[in-house]
Amino acid sequence: MLFKCKQCNKYTLTEQCLACKTNTSPAHPPKYSKEDKYAIYRRREKFSSIN
Ligand SMILES: [Zn+2]
Repeated sequence: MLFKCKQCNKYTLTEQCLACKTNTSPAHPPKYSKEDKYAIYRRREKFSSIN
């Protein structure tokens, strides 16, 4: 599980930031899925332009 400190804006593996002792919140999943969706649209645009 990955946590993120909103104070330091850094990712950590602990529920409390080691730097500022602030309680961290679970980090959001990577945004790769959104980038994949855009990649699919770009591929479709390429195919549509070819056809
Ligand atoms: Zn911190």
